[in-house]
Amino acid sequence: MSTGRGVWADVIDDDWNDWRWQQRHRIDGLEMLESVIDVTASEREAIRECKAWFRMAITPYYALLMDPTDPDCPIRRQAVPHLDECLTYPGMSDDPLAEEAHSPVDGVVHRYPDRVLLYVSHNCPVYCRHCTRKRKVGDPSSTPAGQRLDAAIRYIEQNDKIHDVLISGGDPLTLSNQVLGRLLERLGRIPHLDLIRIGTRNPVTLPQRIDEELCAVLRTSRSLYVHTHFNHPKECTPEAGRALDMLADAGCVLGNQMVLLKGVNTEPAVVVELNRWLLRHRCRPYYILHCDAAPGVAHFRTTLDDGRRVIKALRGHVSGLAVPQYVVDLSGGGGKVPVVPDYLIAEGPQEVVFRNYQGRVHGLTQPQ
Ligand code: SF4
Repeated sequence: MSTGRGVWADVIDDDWNDWRWQQRHRIDGLEMLESVIDVTASEREAIRECKAWFRMAITPYYALLMDPTDPDCPIRRQAVPHLDECLTYPGMSDDPLAEEAHSPVDGVVHRYPDRVLLYVSHNCPVYCRHCTRKRKVGDPSSTPAGQRLDAAIRYIEQNDKIHDVLISGGDPLTLSNQVLGRLLERLGRIPHLDLIRIGTRNPVTLPQRIDEELCAVLRTSRSLYVHTHFNHPKECTPEAGRALDMLADAGCVLGNQMVLLKGVNTEPAVVVELNRWLLRHRCRPYYILHCDAAPGVAHFRTTLDDGRRVIKALRGHVSGLAVPQYVVDLSGGGGKVPVVPDYLIAEGPQEVVFRNYQGRVHGLTQPQ
């Protein structure tokens, strides 16, 4: 039991540290939320408005990271509905990356020649307010089950140009260990696959899920990469650090995909702190993703300059390993393109001129 757990002060440690208990006690309604934070009138209205189209769920663990009195808390912005989610804007799309148009069979998105996304779950411990897949996530009918999942895997088996599978959702770690183990085993038998990736936010929102039993399953998979989704240093808790350490010890190669979100992580110092913590836990900052043009994210959207400012603050000032690529995933399924600050000033046949991270100008002689 712990007094630091507010409304859950009486919960014994064994329950609190059990991911099943955390899942069962998720906050999914106003009344419960009000026992944890001071819900504002506008948040109350937003919860009512958003209920029909994108559900709310917050694990007790993640809820305790929220500032109970500050509606602008970066954790709260990611987890509690906001009235601005009702705003529309030019370019907004239910499926901004045209995943449905690039889906040859149910559950597979095949956008690049050599890799596919395999959609295996509609569940997540916390429903992130900035989610790109709101059209599917949280909707039980969106997940291919049984025979349809079988057909999706067969598609991968029969296409020897596919070398990389990203298991995604929803959150694949909401699958049972048994189901996940069978999936990894089947994918592991496909000779043309070089690597298998799992995209998961469990280390952030439900780190208790990363336990010995799960790691025993992951350890059996070959070339397993795990992409996490930490967005703010408030998420960098001892529990989350332990989860990353366990995944790395189980042989997973870890990378973080941060989504650039207004009011959460557009301040460079925030990202510096986050990325240094990630590296301490063997998780490489992989991408900063520009927020996709999904519904409900008008208040999260940033300019490209916000992203370039963050990269500028990282490059040269922290280890190169802490500098991710800032990318825009082009609407309509155009794929990811990197956006970089302007280091190249001029390019002639004799010399190229750069500005370095300190603002100093340096030349590079071209080969003649
Ligand atoms: S964990 Fe990922 S898929 Fe689930 S709600 Fe958050 S962003 Fe969406």
